[in-house]
Amino acid sequence: MGTSPLIFGVSLALVQGLFGGSAPRTGLTPRVRGARLYNGTMAERLWAPWRFQYIEAKETPGCIFVELPRQDTDRENLILHRGQFAFVMLNAFPYTNGHLLVAPYKHTANLSELDDAEHLEIGRLVTAGVRWIEDAYRPDGFNIGVNLGRAAGAGIPTHVHWHIVPRWNGDTNFMTTIGEVRVLPQSLEESYDRLVAARDRDQSL
Ligand SMILES: [Zn+2]
Repeated sequence: MGTSPLIFGVSLALVQGLFGGSAPRTGLTPRVRGARLYNGTMAERLWAPWRFQYIEAKETPGCIFVELPRQDTDRENLILHRGQFAFVMLNAFPYTNGHLLVAPYKHTANLSELDDAEHLEIGRLVTAGVRWIEDAYRPDGFNIGVNLGRAAGAGIPTHVHWHIVPRWNGDTNFMTTIGEVRVLPQSLEESYDRLVAARDRDQSL
């Protein structure tokens, strides 16, 4: 799908490192619409494809935040919105349903290399992304932030990007409480369509 497995590492570091909280190991939320519960071996079998997708994902040559916007397959690339200086996309390996990334088109690792117009639009896109997720998923809270540098947990340290991670009450202890129970993630395609609908209802951009 042309996405990088490195994104997953970013989101892990984001929640576990920068924001200090213990995160749901599966990256799932118990509030997945239509979620089905499984146990034991079945859980492993159903869960495996998602993990294999991560393990086997091919790395995109070059920088995904440059390469993906150059293509015209936004749904396939999970690009949700294109602004003038920055864009919004779903994380291909989301930590929770609706996990968004906001990145400038400019390939830079440094906040200081973004000008005022870029910072302004990124701020507006982060704000809009929160609104879209609130509309589509009704989360209880958000983690929003940037990991600068590999030491800070950035999986793609060469291109600065913002994470918007919706959170739900109890999403850190659900799995340990329930034990073997697993919840199927909402598909990325369904997440994309729900967020596109929310974006289209939003008249602010
Ligand atoms: Zn880049």
